[in-house]
Amino acid sequence: MQKEYILSKNQKIIFDLIDKSAEPMKAYAILFNVQKKGIKAPLQVYRALDKLVEIGKIHKIESRNAFIACQNSSCQISKATAFSICESCEKVSEINNSKLSKYLSNFEDDSGMRYSKYNLEFFGLCKKCKSK
Ligand SMILES: [Zn+2]
Ligand SMILES: [Zn+2]
Repeated sequence: MQKEYILSKNQKIIFDLIDKSAEPMKAYAILFNVQKKGIKAPLQVYRALDKLVEIGKIHKIESRNAFIACQNSSCQISKATAFSICESCEKVSEINNSKLSKYLSNFEDDSGMRYSKYNLEFFGLCKKCKSK
C-alpha cells in the first residue's frame, strides 16, 4: 500500500478548487481563483499543480490544457490515464475500466515495445448529447 501523501496548504486549496469544479480547469482560471485565497505567485500554483499531477490527485487533459480531479480513488499514479471527452458538451470523465487497463498494460507493438505510461483521450458524444 502506498502511503497517503499529505498535501501542503497551497496544494490543498488548489486541489479543493479543481475537485469542486464541474469541468476541467485551465491554469489561468485556477490562478485567478486562488489569488483570492492568498496564493499570488503563478510559480506557486504551477508547482502545486505539478505535484498534484505527480501524485495522481489530479490529471492533466492535454487536448484541453486543463486539469481535472482524479475520479478514481484507487488511482495513485498519473502515468496511466484514460479519459472520455464529449465533443458536444465538453464533459470529461475518467475511464476506469479494468479490461482496458489490463489490455494496455500487456499491449506490445509490432517492434515488441511495451509501454509503462500512457495518457489517452477518447472523443465522442456522451449519453446525454447522443439522446438529444
Ligand atoms: Zn485518476
Ligand atoms: Zn455531451
